[in-house]
Amino acid sequence: MTTVLSGRRVVLPDGDGFVIRSARLTIDHGRILTVDVDPQTPDPPGTDDLGDALLTPAFVDAHTHLALVGLRGAVGAATTGNVVEDLFFHVERKMVADDVRALTRVGAYEALLAGTAAVWDHYYFGRAVLDGLADVGLAGVVAPALQDLDGPGRDRWEAELDTTVTAAHDAALASRGLGVCLGPHATDTVSDALWRTVVDAASRHGLPIHTHVAQSLDEVRRIGGRASTTPLGLLERLGVLGADVNLSLVHGLFHTDADLDRLDPVRHMLVACPSAQAWFDFPAPVATWSRRGLRWALGTDASATNDAQDVRSELRAVAMLRTAHVANDPAHGRWRSGAGIAEAEALRAVRDRAHREDAPLTDTAAALHRVWTTPGAQHPGLPCGAIAPGHLAHLALWDLEHPSFWPGRDPLRALAFGQVGGALQQVMVAGSWRGARGDFARSITTSAAWRDASREASSRLGRLLPLPW
Ligand SMILES: [Zn+2]
Repeated sequence: MTTVLSGRRVVLPDGDGFVIRSARLTIDHGRILTVDVDPQTPDPPGTDDLGDALLTPAFVDAHTHLALVGLRGAVGAATTGNVVEDLFFHVERKMVADDVRALTRVGAYEALLAGTAAVWDHYYFGRAVLDGLADVGLAGVVAPALQDLDGPGRDRWEAELDTTVTAAHDAALASRGLGVCLGPHATDTVSDALWRTVVDAASRHGLPIHTHVAQSLDEVRRIGGRASTTPLGLLERLGVLGADVNLSLVHGLFHTDADLDRLDPVRHMLVACPSAQAWFDFPAPVATWSRRGLRWALGTDASATNDAQDVRSELRAVAMLRTAHVANDPAHGRWRSGAGIAEAEALRAVRDRAHREDAPLTDTAAALHRVWTTPGAQHPGLPCGAIAPGHLAHLALWDLEHPSFWPGRDPLRALAFGQVGGALQQVMVAGSWRGARGDFARSITTSAAWRDASREASSRLGRLLPLPW
């Protein structure tokens, strides 16, 4: 069935940026078929008139583990050492597929309520993640976690690989905006042989690869010991970097300059999760990535480390990184100890340099690309993140009359860096509107589906993780 939407404020791609225009969209089988800009003919009968509300792409979260929502807030209590191994692995070893499906649903609801239509979810029991997303009506790409050296999925990697290959050709999933990619867990939990299998499968099935790389000091130590190189050096040696597939490299806290030289800005996409990284280690050096012209997107990682599954809020975190270092500059220490006005003048120079060199961190269009088009282009079969023909109809509708947008002169800037969550009127996922227009959050959080999902997840979490944890 074809849906026709008509609005006076539709955010469309325009060169490197975006433009707000009047437009009429036709949507068929979950995809945008046509975009008629400034239409000169009357809307056909049955057109959904969006009036003056702002129609944008819905957000694409480039890296999640939705099922870890059950550990929300846990990392604050346990951040010494390696949180993935010390805490997550411990709980994950007890999980069965139905636990993952139930917990994924809760994380999916949280993401949907933040205006996200698609996630890149990297987790164990990939089929259960796909089912959990389908239960809620969220779209995205699932990377069933593959690991054969260590970790809770160590004895399941063959089953997860089967799931990946089978789901890659599942037309029913694709019609809901769901797909898969290869999901090797990390360089230190995956053997050289399995990495080669991953590259072969990705190339044969035309699938992207999505993996954690250089996410912990332990990983750097282990790869140094095992292969006398860095995590990215190992991936180059094994042919992963050279494979003709889209590759998402998540976290990247410990890439050297020589590592960054190895990356191809077309095929390789770095993913930063600043809020989560700030809890489990430190925010990735995204300013350096931008200065080098590398392609990078944003993810929330998990509520366990991030506390929230709202990828738009990561844009504010990135904007902070432009000048967060100024107060830690040695000149600030000298100023504090009474060295005089010359040190304050020196700080001004540090600030000005940050504003000049790292402007992309606070540029509105560059920011929105990191949660729309950049991650949306990563799966060749599921393009999204732009209102353009051929893209999945993942859309968000915003009330520009809401105080958080007022006076409405630069709605894209407010969208990128403001707190506009209360203005979200409705989200469309793969051509289907979710929630009631204008009553979006309440209509979902009072639904029987949410109540049932929440109840089952609570009961399963109680068994996995008896209080107090
Ligand atoms: Zn992760």
